[in-house]
Amino acid sequence: MKLVHWPLIGGLLHLAQQGRGWAGPQPAQMPPRCTKCNTPPSQPYIGPEPALPMPYNAVKTAIRQWAYVQANNRWQNIKCRQAKLIIQGHSSGRTRELLRLPRQKLRLATGILTGHSQLNQHLSVMGITSDPTCNYCEEGLETAAHFLCECSHFVTQRQEIWGKSYLHPSEADSVQNLVRFILKSHRFS
Ligand SMILES: [Zn+2]
Repeated sequence: MKLVHWPLIGGLLHLAQQGRGWAGPQPAQMPPRCTKCNTPPSQPYIGPEPALPMPYNAVKTAIRQWAYVQANNRWQNIKCRQAKLIIQGHSSGRTRELLRLPRQKLRLATGILTGHSQLNQHLSVMGITSDPTCNYCEEGLETAAHFLCECSHFVTQRQEIWGKSYLHPSEADSVQNLVRFILKSHRFS
């Protein structure tokens, strides 16, 4: 990361000297891009030597890859069994889908994905109810995975959305389908 680090430091020092902080140069103040490859022009380097010149896109890609590795490492070290059962790994596509949801649907979806919802298992952990059993089928603990994948009371809704009566948690990977299922179940309304 040193190769990436040095130009970044130089860029930040350059911005700081201009008194513009972290906001970065404004489009109107930036020199024109290359007409052939549309890359930003090379800027004079300011910072500790030695420095290795790198294309702007290479720096962006390196930062993105670094962030991805950090997110994955953090995910591996989190002890959240319920969330790992359904989420199963980092997905930028799912993140984009979630961020496009209105607040109410986002709250419902994240509740099921993380296991922190108004289902009996979580409510009993919180001390709000004494019985973690599912009130609909009375066949097991009402966890997010039970509600989404196993509860016999919601077989019809799963058939309509996924074409299956029961799911493996990894099959419920679409945020749109997840929200449709939650709304059709009327479990939280
Ligand atoms: Zn049930």
